[in-house]
Amino acid sequence: MEKKTGWEKWNEKTKKKAMGFCEDYKRFLSDNKTERLFTSSCVKTAEKRGFKPLGSYKKLTAGDRFYKTNKGKLVIAGIMGKTSFAGGTRLIAAHTDSPRLDLKTSPLYQEEDLCLFKTYYYGGIKKYQWLTIPLAIYATVVFKNGDKKEFIIGENEEDPVFTITDLLPHLGKDQMKKTISEGFPGERLNVIAGSIPDKGSKKEKVKKNVLKILNSTCGMSEDDFLSSEIQLVPAGKLRDAGFDRGMVLGYGQDDRVCSYTAFNALLDTASPGLASLCILVDQEEIGSPGATSAQSEFFRFLLEEVAEKAGLKPGDLKNVIQNSKAISADVDTVMDPNFKEVSDSRNIARSGCGVVLSKNTGIAKGGCVEPTAEYLAFLRDLFDSNNILWQTGEMGKLEQGGGGTVATFFARYNIDTANCGTGVLSMHAPYELTSKADIYATYLAYRAFFQ
Ligand code: MN
Ligand code: MN
Repeated sequence: MEKKTGWEKWNEKTKKKAMGFCEDYKRFLSDNKTERLFTSSCVKTAEKRGFKPLGSYKKLTAGDRFYKTNKGKLVIAGIMGKTSFAGGTRLIAAHTDSPRLDLKTSPLYQEEDLCLFKTYYYGGIKKYQWLTIPLAIYATVVFKNGDKKEFIIGENEEDPVFTITDLLPHLGKDQMKKTISEGFPGERLNVIAGSIPDKGSKKEKVKKNVLKILNSTCGMSEDDFLSSEIQLVPAGKLRDAGFDRGMVLGYGQDDRVCSYTAFNALLDTASPGLASLCILVDQEEIGSPGATSAQSEFFRFLLEEVAEKAGLKPGDLKNVIQNSKAISADVDTVMDPNFKEVSDSRNIARSGCGVVLSKNTGIAKGGCVEPTAEYLAFLRDLFDSNNILWQTGEMGKLEQGGGGTVATFFARYNIDTANCGTGVLSMHAPYELTSKADIYATYLAYRAFFQ
């Protein structure tokens, strides 16, 4: 199948709309670099667009717009359809967590003349990419009395930033001989936290000084690290890339590109035939193990609550679920001219050629959800009849690896589920690269699916 980009296929008006859409996109992702922030900002936006907490409804009828959050890290928003809820839903699931560095339980220490933080890496990263770049701190600290403090350091120009050192090439002779995984062990991802000693202290003077600053500015003591979530992410905003400004470079696009487009598609859905649901989950990058992940029973509890408020009998819930159709909205890869050898050029998606629908996510025929031919035919027809810029794709050549998505956690309810999302270059790097045509096409595809 010959592929053409949106830049060639679209008229000037659509291209302009795509560019405008991505201005808001860059702003939203720059301002919401954690799953907590993304979730709360989605709620704020949804409230402005007529969505109310699910709990505030006694009864749900056609056109009602509701949302519910789970522990501040997962949000489900929905619109009741014109037909009975028993007829099922149109569900889009995306994740709002992204690869990053988290502080360890007891992170702060002094070594030689510097104070550092120990970190855990969250999600699959190529560790060397995270060295020598400016990092910002996003913190949620909960004190023993239940008080909560949230702060960001490193995003304002006058803020300090944080960083991890790398060896100078002049002394890199042994390092260069190692494999990339041997050369950059996880225990070396230690972040510089300070360098000025505290005059009054006898030992660990730099650490003492950092603790003093943390206490006076954030009210934190060393014990409070345990009950805190402190994430380090690349500092700075998402930006245009290329002379023609056709791409977006920046942090967290896996999978906030699909989260943003799916959520906005829902906001812009007026009165759908079937109920529309958008679920934005956490913890995808670490295998969806926890209460705020796609595997959480929260999803089923929510359906129960909606079914009850829509006047259904408890036994009807299985019909709601099994009559539903889902898109697992997660990023895919596109042909990278620098690394052509890992892709099957006949099957790989292309930058700018639209939202990517994939039959499987690339571990050959294993470990991923494969939708039925019937469901793929349904999506093909839906996209074509709505003039969506879309293409097929896959993760890479056979035996080159592959990736998982949350698709399996919805497919196991016997919901037809397909992977469909935006193509990304440099996936999981501190700065990921996407095409504005693909971002806008993703939004249009999700909107067609809901409508
Ligand atoms: Mn993802
Ligand atoms: Mn990922």
